[in-house]
Parts: sequence; C-alpha cells; structure tokens
Amino acid sequence: MANTERTPGVVAGRLAAEALAENFGDLHEPFDAHEAMVAADRCYFCYDAPCITACPTSIDIPLFIRQIQAGQPEGAAKTIFDQNILGGMCARVCPTETLCEEACVREAAEGKPVEIGRLQRFATDTVMVAGSHPYARAPETGKKVAVVGAGPAGLACAHRLAMYGHKVVVFEARSKPGGLNEYGIASYKTVDGFAQAEVEWLLQIGGIEMVYDHKFGTGDLTLESLTDEYDGVFLGMGLAGVNALRAEGEDHAHVRDAVDFISELRQAANVGTVPVGRDVVVIGGGMTAVDAAVQSKLLGAEHVTIVYRRPRARMSASEYELHLATSKGVRIITGAAPTRLMGNDHVTDIEFAYTEEGPDGLKPTGETFTLKADQVLKAIGQHLDGTPGAIRLDGGKIAVEGPGRTSLDKVWAGGDCASGGDDLTVTAVAEGRDAAEDIHRTIC
Ligand SMILES: Cc1cc2nc3c(=O)[nH]c(=O)nc-3n(C[C@H](O)[C@H](O)[C@H](O)COP(=O)(O)OP(=O)(O)OC[C@H]3O[C@@H](n4cnc5c(N)ncnc54)[C@H](O)[C@@H]3O)c2cc1C
Ligand code: SF4
Repeated sequence: MANTERTPGVVAGRLAAEALAENFGDLHEPFDAHEAMVAADRCYFCYDAPCITACPTSIDIPLFIRQIQAGQPEGAAKTIFDQNILGGMCARVCPTETLCEEACVREAAEGKPVEIGRLQRFATDTVMVAGSHPYARAPETGKKVAVVGAGPAGLACAHRLAMYGHKVVVFEARSKPGGLNEYGIASYKTVDGFAQAEVEWLLQIGGIEMVYDHKFGTGDLTLESLTDEYDGVFLGMGLAGVNALRAEGEDHAHVRDAVDFISELRQAANVGTVPVGRDVVVIGGGMTAVDAAVQSKLLGAEHVTIVYRRPRARMSASEYELHLATSKGVRIITGAAPTRLMGNDHVTDIEFAYTEEGPDGLKPTGETFTLKADQVLKAIGQHLDGTPGAIRLDGGKIAVEGPGRTSLDKVWAGGDCASGGDDLTVTAVAEGRDAAEDIHRTIC
C-alpha cells in the first residue's frame, strides 16, 4: 500500500504526484502584461521614494515601474539589472514585506503596497525569457581577479568585474553554481530551474571562467596562492558550517540539519522521493526553519511544529513567512528550548524546557513538555567553515569595512561570510557589486 500522511516513521511518497505538483508550484503566479499595467498604475512615483532607500541594492523603483507603465519592460529590466544583476531571483525571494513594500507609502496609507516584487519579476522575466543580455564587456584590461564561491555575492561581483573588462575566475566547491539560490531557497519560491537559468544568462557577459569542485582552503587553493597569482581576491563563500543543537541525544537517526534537508529537496528530480517524518519538529526561528517546516508539510508530514527558544517577536522570520507557515498547517511554539532527544536508535520524542528572558539572558522556567518527533530538523544557524588564512574576523565572520575591504591587502569579502548586513540574497548581491566597484578602482 502507498504511504500516506499517517504512515509512521520517515518515508517518501506520502502524497500523490498531482498533490505534490500543486504544493510545490510557484508561490506567486507571475503577472501577465495587463496585470502588470494595473499594478504599475498604483505607484505614485514618489519624489525621494522610501522604497528605493529600503532596497539594499537601491534600485530606482519608481523609474522601473514608470517604464513598465509606459510599455517598456526591457527598459525597466535594465534599470533593475544596473543595480542588481540577480534582480530576477530577488524578485522571487526578497522578503519585500520587510523591505521595499513595507516602506511603500501605499502600505502606510492603505495597508496595501504597490506589488514591487511581482512587477520586478515581470520586467526581468521579459528580458531573460528572450535570452538577451543587456551588457557588453569593456575591452580586456589584462587584470585578473579570483572569486571564491558562486553564490549571489560571488556572481554579482564576478559580473561587474567582467563588465569592466577584467578576467574573472570563480572557484566553487560544489559542482553547480548559484549557492543557496540553488541549494537553499524554498522550492516554491524558485521553480523550473530558474537558479541555473539565471546563472547561464549572467555568464553571457563573457570573461568569467567557472571552476567547479574546487574548495578554497584545500590543496594549493589558499589565500596566499590566490593573492600571489591574481590582482584581487573576493571571498563570497557564505556560511557552510551548521551550528550544533547541544542537546542530549542529538546523534539519534532522523535528526538532521534543515539546510541539508532543503538541499536534498532542491536537488531531487522528483520531490516525492524525499523521505519526511509523520511528526516533524523543526528547531529555530529564521527563514530556514520556516522553509524546512513548510516544505515538510507540503511533502505530506501529518504534524509539523516549529519550536523557537525566544519569544515570537525575536524570530528572524518575517510575519509574512510565519503566516505562510501557519496557513499551511505548521504549528509554532515559542519560548522553549530542546533539552533531550529520546528514542533508541532513531528519535521518537523530544523534550523541551520553557524559557523566559531576563536581565541575565534566557533561562529555563523549570517547566518541561514533550513532543512526538520521528524527524527533527535543526535550523539554528550557520557559521564560517574554517578561517581563511590570517584574515581578521568579527563575530565569527570576516571583518569588512566600507565596500568589503578585509584586513588583508588585495582581499575583499561580501555576502553571508562577511560581517554586517542581513543574511539575504539581495544584501549579498549589493555587497558583491560594491566590492567589485572597489576592486576595479583599486586595480586600475
Ligand atoms: C534555507 C535558506 C533559505 C533562505 N531563503 C531566503 C529567502 O527566501 N530570501 C532571501 O533573501 N534570502 C534567503 N536566504 C538567505 C540567502 O540565501 C543568503 O543570504 C545568500 O544566499 C547569501 O549569498 P552568498 O553568496 O553570501 O552565500 P551562498 O549563497 O551561501 O553562496 C556561497 C557559495 O560559496 C561556495 N563555497 C563555500 N565554501 C567554499 C569554499 N571553501 N571554496 C569554494 N566555494 C565555497 C558554496 O558552495 C556556495 O556556492 C536563505 C538561506 C537559507 C539557508
Ligand atoms: S513608495 Fe510605493 S508609491 Fe512611492 S514610488 Fe515607491 S512603490 Fe511607488
């Protein structure tokens, strides 16, 4: 008999193929041309527009919306790409509800912002579907820059440097580019292989050599070798290390990192082959926790619970994301920390202690409760995987000043691995771009 939502244990194929296809379809349907016009008409084209200030890449939002309204989506796309070459992905994954759309004056006045994210997608898709690339490379400068990591930060940096005519070599540890766009972002935010299509489109600029399956920090791929051989080095390797739970019984079977679970899901040709528990408990309070929980539910888990150790207001996932989770049937418990994972070889239950925040930090109240759990997903943050050479760190990340300058000459850093800024795709793009501008100024 086929598995169902009630099949005990961690199993694949809890839902029929049609239900899975529906569950993992596009979260937001794209606008057609008429819908885009109607949405663009709502923009007031504000002077000193607060939406621009709220965008980490400072896209001229009223200008691109005006271009859509004037029937020039290609011009609108160029306005976006000038600031954010991954504008297509950001249109899909940006938490606009806490960025541009939160700042939109129509949100303040009416509680309904201009739908900037969907308009951005309409414009960028128009150009990308046509396959045209609106930038030409400047003549070769003879300068060479090494980029470590083919995530949003590394790709944005590489594209801008290539545009200026520098030769760029990107060293990527995995066999595919895209970073968390390919391995981390929830499936329903970026469907139909968009992450790979976007990288292929970006590489049309030319002058960028991609070197896969090469992990910086191993063999002779070191900071010393790169600074010897290249005029500049950009580090954009994200946060590849995953934090431990530090609770008794963490080594039981079916206790795994949420990012690995999501990555398996993103790489599966058929999501129905990914095993999921009947009672899934996700520990954490950020986007990763929400994505793991929602996707467990969409795979057919009967009960999915997110447990976060601090109050709800301290969760880094936005209210929109939390609402999405509850709308899919995910339960959220806050103010509770895991103390013990129980079971013989594999986990069966997990015990939590209620917590309270006081002047000395978080403390257990002494009251505990237990949840049934045949699968536990840990989403309690990532860290830098090893320290690159003698570089200065700040709070466990690479310390940077201004446009990504590190403590070492010729070395820049940006994205999640660098200090400052939110861990968001759009912030990584902004930091990669700004570092590229600084590298260009420095090496020319
Ligand atoms: C599960 C999850 C969901 C998320 N959802 C969203 C979302 O919906 N919206 C949003 O805005 N942000 C989201 N984020 C955050 C966003 O994905 C990151 O902020 C962004 O990807 C950071 O880009 P980056 O280029 O700095 O790092 P990454 O995307 O992590 O890319 C780093 C690249 O470097 C490579 N690398 C690592 N170590 C080495 C090495 N030693 N040598 C060579 N290459 C190396 C990696 O393989 C990877 O390709 C999410 C994050 C996670 C974990
Ligand atoms: S704040 Fe809103 S209305 Fe004003 S320019 Fe930006 S998108 Fe348009």
